[in-house]
Amino acid sequence: MSKRDYYEVLGVSKSATKDEIKKAYRKLSKQYHPDINKEPGADEKFKEIAEAYEVLSDDNKRAQYDQFGHEGPSAGFGGGGFSGFGGFDDIFSSFFGGATRRSDPNAPRKGDDLQYRMKISFEDAVFGKQTEIEIPTEETCDTCSGSGAKPGTSPKTCTKCNGVGEINQAVETPFGRMVNRRTCNTCRGTGKIIVEKCATCHGSGTVQKRKKIKVTIPAGVDDGQQLRVSGQGEPGKNGGPAGDLYIVFIVSDHEYFERDGDDIYYELKLTFPQAALGDEIEVPTIHGKVKLKIPAGTQSGEKFRMKDKGVKNVHGYGQGHQYVIVRVITPTKLTEKQKQLLRDFAEISGDIPEEHGSSLFDKIRKTFKGD
Ligand SMILES: [Zn+2]
Ligand SMILES: [Zn+2]
Repeated sequence: MSKRDYYEVLGVSKSATKDEIKKAYRKLSKQYHPDINKEPGADEKFKEIAEAYEVLSDDNKRAQYDQFGHEGPSAGFGGGGFSGFGGFDDIFSSFFGGATRRSDPNAPRKGDDLQYRMKISFEDAVFGKQTEIEIPTEETCDTCSGSGAKPGTSPKTCTKCNGVGEINQAVETPFGRMVNRRTCNTCRGTGKIIVEKCATCHGSGTVQKRKKIKVTIPAGVDDGQQLRVSGQGEPGKNGGPAGDLYIVFIVSDHEYFERDGDDIYYELKLTFPQAALGDEIEVPTIHGKVKLKIPAGTQSGEKFRMKDKGVKNVHGYGQGHQYVIVRVITPTKLTEKQKQLLRDFAEISGDIPEEHGSSLFDKIRKTFKGD
């Protein structure tokens, strides 16, 4: 199922201010709150609104969403990520007395997605490569299997909330008397108390590790493109699936090739005699040296196409070309003999078509500059 655009969900423009977003969220969440709106689908709508607000009210998440959309990486390392459902209680409690329907803290939850920026060489981007990266990650603690309790002991049911994770509290609100359910602060919503903590993870149930992941750089990948490695993000909570890892490729510049999509550009320097008389030159391509015939009378700036000598498309849509841009180099540091030859050349160049009868200086400029 495709997700609706978050701005559309809240009915605001892409340039909406934080205030406008907040106002839109308040209005809509009141309208679709499941305690008030009993229409079918209201619950879903309410969740959609909450999710949109969670992202758009957070500058970082909003910026990421604007850039990557729903499919984008949710956070860098150590970042919170899209925690799904939650984090909106704050604003909500301010006008509903906190009477939100909380998701079960012990329900399985998908782990956060991770983003890894991977620097790769120009050649590896073109031809692809098998490699390995190491990423810091939180993993389930082996000692306690994630329970957080010392092996041989088990967490006890929280006596304050009787294992529910929430405490009911009656409060008066402008809407009348409402039961306010709050997260139990003794067990922090888990319903369990760890009496003896696991020595390895100090009760958290997870440990920081560095994880090695095999990565296949796809041949033809371009700067900024990303690869999703399913299930290699943060571990899920309460038995939920792990998040995904997004690898963003940062491709280094090449010494003399320039890439534009699947095409490669190369600047070929020619001497004036080569350009004037023509030549056959071995030109470097990413596939090795290839002979290129330079016709006589080639001008500076002229472009030659070397078919299929570009990058193989990453999605398998054919192959790019190499474009060779000619630059005719004006000779410097001439010997006296060379100078004399050029003067002689200029003198007998009267047959070069000229629009205006022009000076020696103009002739030479025209000859070398080309267009
Ligand atoms: Zn542990
Ligand atoms: Zn409790």
